[in-house]
Amino acid sequence: MQHFPVFMAVKGRRIVVSGGGDAALAKLRLLLKTEARIEVYAPEAEPEIVQWANEGRITLYRRAIGAADLMGAVLAYGADEDDLLDARFAAFAAETRVPHNIVDNLEDSGFITPAIVDRDPVVVAIGTEGAAPVLARAIKADLEARLPSSLGFLTRVGRSFRQAAEQLPFGRRRRDFWADYYGQVGPQAMSRGGEGAVAPALARLLADHLTDAPRKGHVDFVGAGPGDPDLLTVRARRALDAADVVIHDRLVTPAILDLARREAVIIDAGKEGFGPSTPQAEIDALIVKHAGKGRHVVRLKGGDPTVFGRLDEEVEAVEAAGISFAIIPGITAASAAVAAIGQSLTRRGRNSSVRLLTGHDVKGFADHDWKALARPGEVAAIYMGKSSARFVQGRLLMHGCDPQTPVTVVENASRADQRILSTTVAEMEPAMSEARLDGPALTFIGLAPRAAQADIRNLVQEAVS
Ligand code: SAH
Repeated sequence: MQHFPVFMAVKGRRIVVSGGGDAALAKLRLLLKTEARIEVYAPEAEPEIVQWANEGRITLYRRAIGAADLMGAVLAYGADEDDLLDARFAAFAAETRVPHNIVDNLEDSGFITPAIVDRDPVVVAIGTEGAAPVLARAIKADLEARLPSSLGFLTRVGRSFRQAAEQLPFGRRRRDFWADYYGQVGPQAMSRGGEGAVAPALARLLADHLTDAPRKGHVDFVGAGPGDPDLLTVRARRALDAADVVIHDRLVTPAILDLARREAVIIDAGKEGFGPSTPQAEIDALIVKHAGKGRHVVRLKGGDPTVFGRLDEEVEAVEAAGISFAIIPGITAASAAVAAIGQSLTRRGRNSSVRLLTGHDVKGFADHDWKALARPGEVAAIYMGKSSARFVQGRLLMHGCDPQTPVTVVENASRADQRILSTTVAEMEPAMSEARLDGPALTFIGLAPRAAQADIRNLVQEAVS
């Protein structure tokens, strides 16, 4: 190690910066996270720096730095982006013996600034001795994604409970308590009730641990997205990582199930043990049964759980059983499908609203406001719309829809076997039957693939014709 990492006490102490350009700006953004007194010396300064000075967040001296200005400072940054000024600055630093850094000049710097992941008071510093800044940034991005943004707050609340937690015997029991807090109870309280919910949840957790009460179960209703694991949210990944039991529907792909904790019990609620399709009441009971045993259940649903997912019935069952729950949203099929055709769901001057429809409901083909849907410029995304294509087509035409209105079907959106079929209301049936769609498919009425997507479209049409 040519550089040794330390955390320097800077609260209330002076950090001086020479320079007012981009390099100074970048360093100041970092330094402003500290509780140091920051002084900037620059004859000319970027407007943002001037604004920080006006807001009293830094002190700006509109002149070149001198040796005396460094005296007594805890750190000094040379950010003039000028060899001559840097050399002068280095001489002042040497004279005053203040630890100094010259931006982009490892050789002449007394210290270097690491890449930082900030979850104050948890701070991760990443350094490569200046050898591979790109690598440092990649590690930083990785950690940023892995450490919840609430971690800092959770840690501050945790700190205030340290003394209370000493009622628990040192060792295993105290460790389990903190693991429960940082791993589950804290993040869950935060996502359900915000910051105000964390301290009460921690107090309850401590009371539970003190009385040796059995663990309480919990259910996360998690959106698995359209199929590509890259389209899972960070929070969904975290829930999968923590789950004891994963109950999933048929839309969830194996690649996503692979992300569950190795020890987790995986239950296919689309089929297993219940014939071709599991009745809703049995799924509700299954969720409650596992959570009732104190397990962390992830109810994993394709797309977004709040869109045609029968979420409410499951939530009501869980609530009735007195089990805590959270909803983790996902990317719904319509979002993935519209991205696949390079379009947007709403567009100024075309449609200011978009409808999400289901092709059929419990009673059969679903009825809708066909008259409104048939109007020019309307956009609708039809879920579960394969078998109802003829019905939808008939209703639209009957209500005066222009037969040339574009219709686009996206099958297996976001997956490797994604297909796009571009047609019109006049042609949608038979085009859809001919395409023999066997994966999940989303039908857009009123949207055609963007011109750039035409190649894919033609390819697909050739393949199916
Ligand atoms: N909650 C899900 C929808 C469940 S209903 C969501 O938000 O996406 C099931 C219907 O969703 C399917 O019949 C199909 O119309 C649509 N769907 C789900 N995943 C899809 C995908 N990857 N590609 C196209 N359509 C999909």
